[in-house]
Amino acid sequence: VIEIGQPEHSVVTTCAYCGVGCAFKAEMRGDELVRMVPYKDGKANRGHSCVKGRFAWGYATHKERILSPMIRDSIDQPWREVGWQEAIGFAANRLKAIQARYGRDSIGGITSSRCTNEETFLVQKLIRAGFGTNNVDTCARVCHSPTGYGLKTTFGTSAGTQDFDSVEHTDVVVVIGANPTDGHPVFASRLKKRLRQGAKLIVIDPRRIDLVKSPHIKAEVHLPLLPGTNVAIVTALAHVIVTEGLVDEVFVRERCDWAEFQEWAAFLSEPRNSPDIVGPMAGVEPDAIRHAARLFATGGNGAIYYGLGVTEHSQGTTTVMAIANLAMATGNIGRPGVGVNPLRGQNNVQGACDMGSFPHEFSGYRHVSDDATRQMFEELWGVPLSGDPGLRIPNMLDAAVDGSFKGLYVQGEDILQSDPNTHHVAAGLAAMECVIVQDLFLNETANYAHVFLPGCTFLEKDGTFTNAERRIQRVRRVMAPKNGYADWEVTLLLARAMGFEMDYAHPSQIMDEIAKVTPSFKGVSYQRLEEMGSIQWPCNDKAPLGTPVMHIDGFVRGKGKFVITEYIPTEERTGARFPLLLTTGRILSQYNVGAQTRRTANVVWHEEDRLEIHPHDAENRGICDGDWIKLQSRSGETALRALITDRVAPGVVYTTFHHPDTQANVITTDYSDWATNCPEYKVTAVQVSPSNGP
Ligand code: SF4
Repeated sequence: VIEIGQPEHSVVTTCAYCGVGCAFKAEMRGDELVRMVPYKDGKANRGHSCVKGRFAWGYATHKERILSPMIRDSIDQPWREVGWQEAIGFAANRLKAIQARYGRDSIGGITSSRCTNEETFLVQKLIRAGFGTNNVDTCARVCHSPTGYGLKTTFGTSAGTQDFDSVEHTDVVVVIGANPTDGHPVFASRLKKRLRQGAKLIVIDPRRIDLVKSPHIKAEVHLPLLPGTNVAIVTALAHVIVTEGLVDEVFVRERCDWAEFQEWAAFLSEPRNSPDIVGPMAGVEPDAIRHAARLFATGGNGAIYYGLGVTEHSQGTTTVMAIANLAMATGNIGRPGVGVNPLRGQNNVQGACDMGSFPHEFSGYRHVSDDATRQMFEELWGVPLSGDPGLRIPNMLDAAVDGSFKGLYVQGEDILQSDPNTHHVAAGLAAMECVIVQDLFLNETANYAHVFLPGCTFLEKDGTFTNAERRIQRVRRVMAPKNGYADWEVTLLLARAMGFEMDYAHPSQIMDEIAKVTPSFKGVSYQRLEEMGSIQWPCNDKAPLGTPVMHIDGFVRGKGKFVITEYIPTEERTGARFPLLLTTGRILSQYNVGAQTRRTANVVWHEEDRLEIHPHDAENRGICDGDWIKLQSRSGETALRALITDRVAPGVVYTTFHHPDTQANVITTDYSDWATNCPEYKVTAVQVSPSNGP
């Protein structure tokens, strides 16, 4: 029993974990936060929350939080606590010296999907204008960058098509590569409500997730495909729709490029895309594919929801485009109840991408080589800007290992723990002459840092987050920054020390600049957010109240584009040495690498990550439930305890990655998406054997 006493006042803010974007009332007694209550007027959550958000404040006051800046000359020396001016001066002098010696493009930075839109916009501005390079990237690189590329190519904009309310009008739901019950719990509740009302469900996932069968819910079809075969399965669904005459020809003729459609339909009709060929290869019954395709094409409003099980593959972008093809071919775009809906993992993935965090794009997804756009930014920011795309995160690390990239500013991300092939990340970081980490805790990346700048929790921030349905919501300061400076103020200090002045008195002024330079944000301001509660972009002269459902009258790019989605198997193959396929996911009570949730009350629900293994595979290896096992891949090995379950099929194993001891990314490979370099986290050939523990 926890005695909390009566709160004295409350502040409405937005959860900083997943892309649902639940609004909360943070209830305070003096300076102390006593509880978080889901806000009944929150447009994304309507008074609901999950167990992560409910206890999301514990890490803000955790004893391991670092509150003073620290520096050191080299990574083998101990940290030295210093004042802000000294730390910022040390960082800026090192970065300037690196640029003087190795050139302008020898440094760069990484923004975070956990930070606000305003913070992210400032960091990319600092790097483009203050550092003079487009070497800026975001942690969306390792999650939803294929969504950005795939949906921009097919529909013309890098965002989900619907609002969450749309699910209430859906008749057939496809959930592919996502586990909303654990990853997006509050949205999952709305989805389950619709399913209980009679909507049909198709689950495409290697694992028998909770939605496949749980009290009062049973999927009509579960396609338990082998990890790595998404493109083949989605293409086989489309094959059935095309060859059985189930295409919505009126929609396609009116709204899409007809010639491209015909080319696509001819490709799909080829026998190699049929369920009879694809099914056995992907581990799925051909008739189940046919049943799913017919249901989706003829069952009324069809909506597709997907997650990282789609994007984190060598063909992640191809799968996103295959999903878009399926939605267009069946006319499931442009009205409530339909659409293509990426479930974003982190609170502000959408916003980080919108704000120009990619090395090739300014805010609003405009290419840096576009002269008119670049000129507009140059006039406003008063400096010349490069029209050449910069380096992505993996390219920065490659260049560091090769010796041409020497300095990195990382705000709010632990790349050593969250990026693939840990050994390569470590080698890249170790080769740099200046690594600046801005975070709450001394994370794994900080082991390779020369400057540590303490960051703020969302409770100490003013700003906005944009959730998975493009909804921009206010984040309000609940308590003063414990380290003395808001994160955006730290970026201003670093910019000034680098010789580039930025002048803002409050994050609202940063949003005013975002609105000025970003067409889809033109109508957004803090005043309007206060009046309306939240705004879904695009919000501009054409849509002054925002846009819950996109592409109603036409696609942003004009005609919808059908793309031929040839299935190319991943290079990561099973064989005698590594006969099993490992895939990964999350559990309800924990968030990503657990840096925050492991420092809250949530820790009681999840003390370790385990390896799910099918009873046959366990028996063959002499493994009992709870035994320590060795998990080995071509990249490395780690130790976990076994959880024997038929939730996974024979030949497939699964783990979560919330604890640093799990070292999941020691196992993962170097393969990545062909278009965006998003790592192929979801497919790793492994061997499992008994072990005595770590
Ligand atoms: Fe809502 Fe996601 Fe936060 Fe849970 S973690 S409270 S679903 S925003």
